[in-house]
Amino acid sequence: MSHKKTRRIDPLTLALPSGGADSHAHLDGIEFDADREDVLRRAKAAGLDRIGNVFLGPEDFAVRKSMFDGHPEVFFLLGIHPCDGMRCTRQSLAEMRAAFAAAPRLRAVGEIGLDYHWKNCPKELQIKAFVSQLAMARELGMPVALHCREAEDETLCILESRGFQGYPLLWHCFTGGPALADHILGNGWHISLPGPVTYTANEELRKAVARIPADRLLLETDCPYLPPLPWRGSRNEPAFTVFTAHALALARDASPEEVWRTCGDNARRFFGLF
Ligand SMILES: [Zn+2]
Repeated sequence: MSHKKTRRIDPLTLALPSGGADSHAHLDGIEFDADREDVLRRAKAAGLDRIGNVFLGPEDFAVRKSMFDGHPEVFFLLGIHPCDGMRCTRQSLAEMRAAFAAAPRLRAVGEIGLDYHWKNCPKELQIKAFVSQLAMARELGMPVALHCREAEDETLCILESRGFQGYPLLWHCFTGGPALADHILGNGWHISLPGPVTYTANEELRKAVARIPADRLLLETDCPYLPPLPWRGSRNEPAFTVFTAHALALARDASPEEVWRTCGDNARRFFGLF
């Protein structure tokens, strides 16, 4: 079936209560320049009262953080993405340290990690950027939001050889199977699920979801990317997490309200929100 025929469903028809959280969004991107306020209004109406916006480096953070001045429900993450590893210099690390010291809305270092899918940054530079930002997170006492694509073995090896077992770490955009989930959970980390858990073909992913303890599960959009099924092929936005929550509920034999509330509580605890 072509995606064009997918029936678009208004997220408000799912009527979830407030208390939900989107742990990973890129609302500062140009994709939202035309209607950012509407997007944030729809998120609130859909039951989200926390959204983590991820800034992909100190320049973006300095220039764009004011976009959320009127939105205390948005908290911030800051880190240099593995695909931008070459931008992780002594200076940018110093700028990030200064930003964390000055901005209490910054709640985690991320997204950092390894990405061997896109070839725009050499592996050695990615590893160097990852390791120095891990050290920064530990020094600042900040949780880590991890990005890992087609680099699971090396990512796990770096984290485990540096003693990050038990560290507050969120495996963002998890799309793996039960074995990887078990490995992550065995290290005491959290797992965040994006829209693709709703896609018909992702049966292994839903099997993994069923094994995640309730206190380690989070929900995210990674918007504007990765929309859940009813909006596949279009821009993603935080309100669409209601569809992801429904898929998680089905996979876990729980109610959508319960998943929604639990993921929201986990995000508040993980990021130290109040
Ligand atoms: Zn992201």
